[in-house]
Amino acid sequence: MLILKFGGTSVGSPQRMQQVASLITAINQPKIVVLSAVAGTTNALVQLGKLLLAKQTEEAAEHIDKLEQHYQAFIDNLLTQSKPRQQAQQVLTHSISLMRNYLGYPFGRSKNNELLAQGELLSTQLFSLFLTENKIDNTLLSALDFMHLTPSGEPDVQDIKQKLTPMLRAPRPGTIYITQGFICLNSQGDIDNLKRGGSDYTASLIGAAVQANEIQIWTDIDGMHNNDPRLVKATKPIEHLSFDEAAELAYFGAKILHPATILPAQVAGVPVRLKNTLQPEAPGTLINKDASHTQVKAVAAKDGITAIKIKSSRMLLAHGFLLKIFQIFDYYKTAIDMVTTSEIAVSLTIDDTTHLTNIVEELQALGQVEVDKNQSIICLVGNQILKNQQVLQQLFKSMEQTPLRMVSLGGSKNNISLLVPSQQKQVAMASINKGVFGL
Ligand code: ASP
Ligand code: MG
Repeated sequence: MLILKFGGTSVGSPQRMQQVASLITAINQPKIVVLSAVAGTTNALVQLGKLLLAKQTEEAAEHIDKLEQHYQAFIDNLLTQSKPRQQAQQVLTHSISLMRNYLGYPFGRSKNNELLAQGELLSTQLFSLFLTENKIDNTLLSALDFMHLTPSGEPDVQDIKQKLTPMLRAPRPGTIYITQGFICLNSQGDIDNLKRGGSDYTASLIGAAVQANEIQIWTDIDGMHNNDPRLVKATKPIEHLSFDEAAELAYFGAKILHPATILPAQVAGVPVRLKNTLQPEAPGTLINKDASHTQVKAVAAKDGITAIKIKSSRMLLAHGFLLKIFQIFDYYKTAIDMVTTSEIAVSLTIDDTTHLTNIVEELQALGQVEVDKNQSIICLVGNQILKNQQVLQQLFKSMEQTPLRMVSLGGSKNNISLLVPSQQKQVAMASINKGVFGL
């Protein structure tokens, strides 16, 4: 079994849906196709949800009209025969009536989640009808029947496996299952989702549950690049990453993959391949358990970081100091990214500043506290990167012009993290691109 996930732009127009259809039918293996919402739809639904929550009924009604027109045109261009067109019309009417119903009733969180789910529900039903019109056999599976969250709000691969396996009856090479990314049921049985960008995560969970041969994530770029193409001109696709390298990169800002995607695939040992729908022949990026290579792979950056330094001479030769610090962050459910210590000070970084004021107040009981906002973590990734003296030299040489606030190295064998003021990030990334990657 293959899992093929297509993102919003890959199904963003009737033409693009046709391309996806040719792409999947050319692959002679049974497959589960996971689709995102048509590009722009989830954003539009988020916007609509805000209007409904704010009781801005008139604007909300206009918003719904616009969505209806957009999908009407989409259907008109996608389907030609009267029966599938009628069916698509029903699908659209169902979604739009549901939205119009919200206008007259109290609107809260669970209705909002139901609203957000409409994007994936629409894209998958329209795509399935398109395949059927073109005499391509396919089976639509509702993610709501197997993608269920535990009471702690997490999906559980074993549970997905139990529910999904009986639905996949005798798959043959040409078998095509279609399902929605992103959406799920929570433990109360209400519609929920796996957070923005969560369709990648859906694909990975399904791939792990059915022990797929491969999970393919199809987007609009030819795989992960060695650097952020929005920041530097010359970047190149990375052919291969180990799971650990990919997890570091996905977390540190490489927008191409939802950060939770790697873990289920890694645990199940299922390779993940990032492919480009616009250039299907390009090799893309293969992510698997092979971690034998040692060259440096990529650099990524994460913005919106706040650094906090706690300085106290009481730390000298004392134990339990870090515990006290971490307990404060734990109490406020605030994750810490980087940590560096000296004998009398600790610096650490957070990206969620919701409870910053309280945290700082409590930390002040332990020592002198300094806060630096608007920082970026630059993270260089590659297996055994610390063993590569040359890379270390090149890296620090590249940073000659950049003030470094923190350096973390040795936390894992495949990552070096640097904290720099955000205004310096772009220059630093360009300089690393030249100095370390020779680009
Ligand atoms: N449609 C959802 C979003 O835009 C999920 C996804 O595309 O992965 O966030
Ligand atoms: Mg995405």
